Formats: sequence, structure tokens, C-alpha cells
Amino acid sequence: MARHLLQLEGVDAEGLTALLDRARSHLPAARGEATPARSMDGRLVAQLFFEDSTRTRLSFEAATARLGGRSMALQGAGSSASKGETFLDTALNVDALGVDAMVVRTSISGGAALLARNVRCAVINAGDGRREHPTQGLLDCLTIREVFGRFDGLRVAIVGDIANSRVARSALHALTTLGAHVTLVGPPTLLPASMAGVAHHRDRVALSHDLDATLGGLDVIMMLRVQLERAAGGGVASDYRELFGLTHARAARLPGHCIVMHPGPVNRGVEVDDDVADDVRRSQILRQVTHGVAVRMAVLEHCLGR
Ligand code: ASP
Repeated sequence: MARHLLQLEGVDAEGLTALLDRARSHLPAARGEATPARSMDGRLVAQLFFEDSTRTRLSFEAATARLGGRSMALQGAGSSASKGETFLDTALNVDALGVDAMVVRTSISGGAALLARNVRCAVINAGDGRREHPTQGLLDCLTIREVFGRFDGLRVAIVGDIANSRVARSALHALTTLGAHVTLVGPPTLLPASMAGVAHHRDRVALSHDLDATLGGLDVIMMLRVQLERAAGGGVASDYRELFGLTHARAARLPGHCIVMHPGPVNRGVEVDDDVADDVRRSQILRQVTHGVAVRMAVLEHCLGR
């Protein structure tokens, strides 16, 4: 039976750690410094992206290529979706091409699970609506573990449009399962009280509408983009940067060892100031991208039984 990766919710610490360990072993290859074993030789992966992507799509392609596999890419725009073919029908047809795995990004929350119930090949969720983005959650964890070597007792803030962020949900599940404490920070409109109950380990989750009050005790601050393509479509409030942006002044109040993360794409001058995003001492933003390749190599191998 095909092995899927649909979400991090419900994956236990052992499962997460095994994937992170495997990803770590792929870091030299992900950086282009080593040639990995061609564990995906002869394997065919369909990359189905019905929503925009830069990092995730290219890094799944890079991961597939590094392991000796081949990719076929389909983007929503330019596919038969514009002729009225349903999401499921498109996936069934791609499955019928004999692919070994499909990587799927969709605006439909639960879309990857829908495909997994209906196709023969392995399904890897590359972001389904506002629900989950499991490989992003894993690369966030790998980035944190590479810096601190542990999760236990770490204080992480995830800041911004929590309500509409699949990145926040996947990171929240994984980080709390691994022992970190997570404070979700955002304006009341983008941070519903119900978010506190999302994680299995509720005692490791706090909610705050006051970014300034959380800065002092942090090890990690993860900034999010306002998801204009989802419910936040009304636009970014004019005082958003002032209240929830990681400005130069706020970054100066973070503990010296605190790292700055962002899944990208970064809206400079909105959620993060230029000099904070580019601060090589704190910012992990480009390292996250490299770690994403290693994580996706690990996930592809895991799902394809290598
Ligand atoms: N790239 C991430 C995602 O697809 C984050 C974002 O778009 O803001 O969810």
C-alpha cells in the first residue's frame, strides 16, 4: 500500500524524529556538496500545483532529481482544470499515467487526503488550503534543531495570520509534539481563540494579541505573511506593521540568541523589516529553503519505501 504524507497532526515524536534524522543525513546533498545514493532511480513523481509556489515546487523537483528520480510538473493554470475537469479527475488521470508519487498543492483544505483515498500512488501534501503544509513544518523543525540541537523547553512564537496559515498549523503540531512551547501571536481577527485547542498538547500552547509582550523570552520567532488569497483578502490593516511587524526596533529587543524564521514569500516592510530579514546572525530564512530540499528528499524516500 502507498505511504502518504498528508499532515503532521497525529505524527508522534518518534515518527517526526525519524524523518528529521533522515533529512539531516541529506543536508550535504541538498547543499550540492555531496552526491547521494540514487534511491529514486526510475521513479516518476508528478508535481501538481494548483496554487502558486516558488520554493516548495522547485525544492520537490530538486529533491526528486538529487535522488535520481524524474519529475513531471503540472500547474493549475494551463491544465485541463480551466476546461472544467475536477481536481479529483485530474489526479485520477495523472495516477493512470503510472506515477509513483504525486506532490499536490491545492486551495482545498483536505484536498490531499481526498486524493489519497482515491489514487493508487503515494500522495504528498505540499499545502492544502489553510489546513496543513507538512514538509514546511518539518523543515521548520529541522532548522530549529540544527541551531539548538533540541526542542524541549524552547520558546517559539508564531506571529501573524494564524487563522489562514497552513504553515502555522503544521509547525504547531510538530513543535508541540517534540516538546517546544508555542505562543501564537496575532490580531484577534487573524487569531481565533479556537486555535488554542488545535494542538494535541494544549498545555504547550499560548495565545497573545500583544507581540511586544512576548519578545523578551523567545528562542525562535517565526513570522507569517498575511494570506491575502484566503479570508484575509480584505487587505492588510494599515497599522499591521506597527502592531505585528518584526521591525528593526522590535528585533533589537529579542534575546541575542533568538533566531528569525519565515516560510516565504516575505512581504518586506510588512511582516519583517528589510534589515531583520537580511540579518545573517539571526535570520534563518534562506537556510530554511536549503533544509526544505533535504526534508523533501527524506519524505520522498519515506513515502516510496526506500
Ligand atoms: N509558502 C507558504 C505556503 O504556501 C507560506 C505563504 O504562502 O505565506 O503556505
